Amino acid sequence: MVTLLGPAEIRSLAAALDVTPTKKLGQNFVVDANTVRRIVSVAGVTEGDRVVEIGPGLGSLTLAILERGARVTAVEIDHRLAQRLPATAAEHGVPEGALTVVDADALRVTELPGDPSVLVANLPYNVSVPVLLHFMQTFPGLRRGVVMVQAEVGERLAAAPGGKVYGAPSAKAAWYGAWRLAGSVSRHVFWPVPNVDSVLVAFERDAQPRGTEQERALTFRIVDAAFQQRRKMLRQALAGVLGGSAGSASEVLEAARVAPTARGEELGIEDFLRVARLVLSRGG
Ligand code: SAM
Repeated sequence: MVTLLGPAEIRSLAAALDVTPTKKLGQNFVVDANTVRRIVSVAGVTEGDRVVEIGPGLGSLTLAILERGARVTAVEIDHRLAQRLPATAAEHGVPEGALTVVDADALRVTELPGDPSVLVANLPYNVSVPVLLHFMQTFPGLRRGVVMVQAEVGERLAAAPGGKVYGAPSAKAAWYGAWRLAGSVSRHVFWPVPNVDSVLVAFERDAQPRGTEQERALTFRIVDAAFQQRRKMLRQALAGVLGGSAGSASEVLEAARVAPTARGEELGIEDFLRVARLVLSRGG
């Protein structure tokens, strides 16, 4: 039987490893068993699932995933934590072979042992969006998941076009699938207590890729340009990407059935993609 870490054990493990949680690595460890079990429930993890966890830290969430009988590939940048995790798992009843630890920066990982199809993570706050987009892009086998992120970031990931919260991360995340807010988490379940609250965000990847890699790359460039200066009209942003005039950008936008005077926040990912396809059809 797999057992979970308690708050006292988390602190004593950190002390034994000489780990003082750092802001730079977003090290806020969950010290509440109900919270880690809740994350795993929302993610619908069941026996035999192949899960990847980014930033397992001391192992609170890792053990809750393993408790369900899933297999876990855990990617941790802090060597001390990565090296200690297998021993913690063994001490808590995890069967041999159920956990694989990758001692690496998640932003640089290009291969994942165990071929995971589910992502479950309490993400380091400072890199949560780039890490998520990197994983969605690099590992198409990831079909669904639940991540805990800072509330503002979660709202952004799940935002629909038209509001102030909608931005480049919302449009880019939507390229891969559907994202929804799945509950809030108090800052008081963490040690140390961060100065922000968190939310759970669930995603499900679309059955089919939205477009080709060439289309995605250009769509993302247009998205970045559109949100770089939110006040700018789309025709100005697109002219910057194409290296042409606002007039020729207007022509492209009209042909793609997008108002040249619209602003980025009014466009869904499909609209951005239509513009990218039109640019490509005219020779890039
Ligand atoms: N999962 C643990 C928990 O819930 O208690 C720890 C979560 S803590 C918010 C984030 C973890 O991500 C830390 O262990 C930190 O060392 C790790 N981390 C930070 N940046 C990382 C990166 N680029 N790649 C992999 N792990 C990273």
